[in-house]
Amino acid sequence: MNKILWLTTLALLPCAGSTDERHVDGVAAPAAVRQRVASNMSVTAGSLQPMCIQPIFVRDSPTDTHPTGAAYVIGRKEAETQWTKKAGIVFTWREPRFVDDPAFKVVTVGDQEAKLLATVQDAGCIEVFFIQDFNPPRSHGGASTWESGKPDAQIIISDASVTAPGPGHDTVFLAHELGHVMGLGHPVMPLGLIPSSTNTLMCVSDLGVPRPARNSQENVDNARKALKGFKLVPPSAPPDCKASADCGPCPE
Ligand SMILES: [Zn+2]
Repeated sequence: MNKILWLTTLALLPCAGSTDERHVDGVAAPAAVRQRVASNMSVTAGSLQPMCIQPIFVRDSPTDTHPTGAAYVIGRKEAETQWTKKAGIVFTWREPRFVDDPAFKVVTVGDQEAKLLATVQDAGCIEVFFIQDFNPPRSHGGASTWESGKPDAQIIISDASVTAPGPGHDTVFLAHELGHVMGLGHPVMPLGLIPSSTNTLMCVSDLGVPRPARNSQENVDNARKALKGFKLVPPSAPPDCKASADCGPCPE
């Protein structure tokens, strides 16, 4: 699919009252994932693939000693806790790649996001672009996923999610976006995706109120179901609650 065309369409959609990300809506995402898995399986016959993640940092030039990516290590650590330990979802983390263009350090919401997303498109990997910040600052609640639940999903994350001054930083920003990649929506306003549990990492981000570093059995089950055909292992840690009824409300 032509992402630029698609983004043009997306830009016309209202933000649904959310201060969080604008996502690809309306597509039965897990089905799309399964479709891709089916074709993979026919090629790789029995060898299940981990979910490949490609981090991408932005530099002014190859000699730039201050590339973006300040949020990567903390985001990856929490993604492994929430999805690999608690859900048994296996990721392959590729070595970071660089985009050498100072124009993409601070990315204006809209066409410039589309241009950044077009710089790296690998059919076998989920690209995660790290930028300094969006313009306007902290747009999308600091991060956003395009083509949620589809094999060509792409994520943009602002380092400002963890470097901006202010109360309590959210550590689950990358784990949250990966939840969207796996077809999970927010507990309310799921935007066409599978509704997730309250008081977990899938809560909508409100700037300054960190999302809970918690996951639920319901989220784990739905993510694993959507990823049937990808490499899954038994979880090594239990989820924090079962479903919204016992998880409690999202923080406000
Ligand atoms: Zn979200």
